[in-house]
Amino acid sequence: MDLARLRAPQDSSMIPSSWYNIVPDLPEELPPMLRPDGEPVKPSDLEPIFPSKLIEQEFSRSRFIEIPGELRELYARLGRPTPLLRARRLEELLGTPAQIYYKYEGVMPTGSHKINTAAAQAYYNKLEGVRRLTTETGAGQWGSALSLGGALFGLKVRVYMVKISYMQKPYRKIMMQVYGAEVIPSPSNYTEYGRRLLSTDPENPGSLGIAISEAIEDAVKNDDTKYSLGSVLNHVLLHQTIIGLEARKQMEELGVYPDIVIGSVGGGSNFAGLSYPFMKDRLQGRSETSFIAVEPTAAPTMTKGVLGYDYGDSAEMTPLIYMYTLGHKFVPPPIHAGGLRYHGVAPTIAILVKTGYIEPRAYSQNEIFDAALLFAKAEGIIPAPESAHAVKAAIDEALKAKEQGKEKIILFNLSGHGLLDLQGYNDYLEGKLTDAYINGPRIEDLSFTKK
Ligand SMILES: *Cc1c(COP(=O)(O)O)cnc(C)c1O
Repeated sequence: MDLARLRAPQDSSMIPSSWYNIVPDLPEELPPMLRPDGEPVKPSDLEPIFPSKLIEQEFSRSRFIEIPGELRELYARLGRPTPLLRARRLEELLGTPAQIYYKYEGVMPTGSHKINTAAAQAYYNKLEGVRRLTTETGAGQWGSALSLGGALFGLKVRVYMVKISYMQKPYRKIMMQVYGAEVIPSPSNYTEYGRRLLSTDPENPGSLGIAISEAIEDAVKNDDTKYSLGSVLNHVLLHQTIIGLEARKQMEELGVYPDIVIGSVGGGSNFAGLSYPFMKDRLQGRSETSFIAVEPTAAPTMTKGVLGYDYGDSAEMTPLIYMYTLGHKFVPPPIHAGGLRYHGVAPTIAILVKTGYIEPRAYSQNEIFDAALLFAKAEGIIPAPESAHAVKAAIDEALKAKEQGKEKIILFNLSGHGLLDLQGYNDYLEGKLTDAYINGPRIEDLSFTKK
């Protein structure tokens, strides 16, 4: 049977009871976040922006962290477990002996994996009496997920949306408004940082780094408000491990185990979410599985970035984070995979790339759309441009298996659908897509000090 969907709908007994925290299993000690003065960040330093339960998770060394019952029920109502599907027709078209499986997160209400952490973050904020959340969004996937999270728990949400996306991608903005969120084009006049930028450049198109800075400033200045981040931080990756925990169980039911696990990487949450429960086996010497993290050549953080401490945002309001980075002032070329345009990557992924457990790989925009069209025609689902990076790697690995005559089991994360990204598909079909290749950080983007 191809579909591992053996469940009654909305049955929370199918939802994993704990998330998996990879920190205690890493091959190297995870370098702490640092304050600008070089001192390690203390949990209390984060209190102005996060509720205490999320701070506790951020610093946790426990291998498993219980998912509260109320949240498990919500996950079930929203459509978890998501299906694990096998791309049979794609295998046939490629003529590969490999089996290609994918975990499909596009069935979640906002069309991607992001609601997994948005719901959890809204839940913990609500629990601690927070009334309002701020966040940033690029293309709008994270903003729409947090807007829904807020709606489900009765929290107000303000989303600072990168101005260029606000103008070019109206549909996700409308989704956020449907869920009741306030959507502000960033840079804006609502924050000091935004006003400063607009005074020198009223036409500033914005960037994710700028929007993060505005959202944090707003949270710090308002007592009833906390900030919410959609990727990069330990607690966000933790929440996403529900994907891999489900996939592991679903594959077990099918009697298979992946030789190769693949995901696209923006900040790293969907990749970590799918792969870490399998990475645990590898780190503990119980498997030989390989892991491929895919990024765009237009924002090649892991393949061309430098490893060290950098800020998570352009205004230098976040702590210094240990990661591969293209520099926090880096503004990537405008590609359709907006969710992969971040300058950095989650610290746990940085450690695993550095130690060779993860193979990073970069593809260009035309390559990933080629793959996405092949996949859509074979399997029916139109992938998000971000997810198409994983599709491309899965296809390449399946072709490699064909060359080698090996029956590899490939698993990738189809992190979202592309039904709100049809402009990108149109540009591709009309031959208008340009490829961008960034060869590394510019010195002026790298103003951080610590190595
Ligand atoms: C946001 C997003 C990504 C990239 O973010 P990660 O935190 O790296 O997962 C990938 N795919 C989709 C569909 C997204 O919305």
